[in-house]
Amino acid sequence: MNDPVLVINCGSSSIKYALVPATADQPRLTGLVERLGSGDARLKGVDGSGDAFTRPLGGAGHVQALEAILEGLEGRQPFAVGHRIVHGGERFTRATRIDDEVVAAIEQTAALAPLHNPANLLGVAATRSLFPDLPQVAVFDTAFHQSLPPRAYRYALPEALYRDHGIRRYGFHGTSHACVSARANALSGLPGGGWLTAHLGNGCSITAVWQGKSLDTSMGLTPLEGLAMGTRSGDVDPGLHVHLVRQLGWSIEEIDRVLNRESGLLGLSGLTNDMRELEAAAAEGHAGAALAIEVFCYRIAKSLAALSCALPRLDGILFTGGIGENSPRVRQQVIDLLPHFGLALNPEANLATVRGREGRIDTLTPNRPALWVIPTDEEGRIADETRQLLGDTPR
Ligand code: AMP
Repeated sequence: MNDPVLVINCGSSSIKYALVPATADQPRLTGLVERLGSGDARLKGVDGSGDAFTRPLGGAGHVQALEAILEGLEGRQPFAVGHRIVHGGERFTRATRIDDEVVAAIEQTAALAPLHNPANLLGVAATRSLFPDLPQVAVFDTAFHQSLPPRAYRYALPEALYRDHGIRRYGFHGTSHACVSARANALSGLPGGGWLTAHLGNGCSITAVWQGKSLDTSMGLTPLEGLAMGTRSGDVDPGLHVHLVRQLGWSIEEIDRVLNRESGLLGLSGLTNDMRELEAAAAEGHAGAALAIEVFCYRIAKSLAALSCALPRLDGILFTGGIGENSPRVRQQVIDLLPHFGLALNPEANLATVRGREGRIDTLTPNRPALWVIPTDEEGRIADETRQLLGDTPR
């Protein structure tokens, strides 16, 4: 089958899409519908010639938005739809073909991802109503981490919370960690390599991958655990919540908002969550921006060191995501904090490996862990998993 896969990443007010062809010599059509449900809704895309276009879709809901996306596909018909689904709980350990029973099971995990799963399901419902005959596949952000052993996924909490309520560490960004670690296996000739994959974007997480399996990861029950991120705090003292309630009289909603939306790089700098702006401000002497970058990098280094405990052998560290792929400064600052790992950064290669370039940024010294920048391709991975599940090998 040479037809493309339509990949859908549906949020409550936006839909990202990509029409991923079977072979790399054909163009990938991508785009985004934003501000769904408002008078300002619009489709922004890139066509087959690489030209950007914008179409107003005033008042469109999910079904109308998908109809508009289809019209923009220049007559190319997908043979299947792959959906990014954030939380698959313990039930979904791999990509799964969607039917009524699978939709019901995803609904049941909504308690674990109340912001994401219901929005993802809006996209599933809309595409199923528009293309009743096309196979649809759910690809879960959590599935890659279902190989975590109990010592990594259990919190030190009473067993009943795990048994009766599913409270454990799940991990996220699985599609990205799976994508870059598989690429590192292929590039390095070490099919069973031991990698620390650092996905550094607006959301950030690190995963320890050994022989193609996730053994531990920095995110937990929710995507709030672990590193400092764009607007998320990452790890804080679990006693903080009680303190804020008892001493400051905060509500659960306030705590949730501050930790998820007003913390991280934004909270520390008091300026922005955008790393490009922070680097520019730090260069101009903005103390908050410099501190935000310092905390961000220190927390990454600490997490890399901690997660190295999961690996029998460290073959390399892989950087990906908007910051991981584009910020030589962050990569350098992180590596400088890990002198005991025997890492040897090549400063020229580090500076040159940006804007979607893939490559090694270490000195290629034998018996030292490699350092790679590997652009992530979550859409391509979702399309591949969809094809594999449906028994369709791309040519
Ligand atoms: P993502 O969520 O993967 O799209 O990544 C978004 C983050 O990548 C934002 O913090 C951006 O500021 C950051 N980013 C993108 N380009 C650059 C760049 N050239 N230098 C530093 N950070 C960048």
